[in-house]
Amino acid sequence: MKEGIHPKYQKAKVQCACGETFEIGSTRKEIRVEICSKCHPFFTGQRTRNVEAGGRVDKFKKKYGL
Ligand SMILES: [Zn+2]
Repeated sequence: MKEGIHPKYQKAKVQCACGETFEIGSTRKEIRVEICSKCHPFFTGQRTRNVEAGGRVDKFKKKYGL
């Protein structure tokens, strides 16, 4: 049997549009996101122009189980 057919669960480097990078467990090596905990208004305490961003983070968290 050949190995490497199934993707390995490994650390994936996530890069946010704001420049922040962090790691999560994933079968993918690199993941790009548009928003992260660093630039999300809930975490930064800043008012945002883009209210939809909150929904995106929630989706992201659900997807990766954060
Ligand atoms: Zn960010």
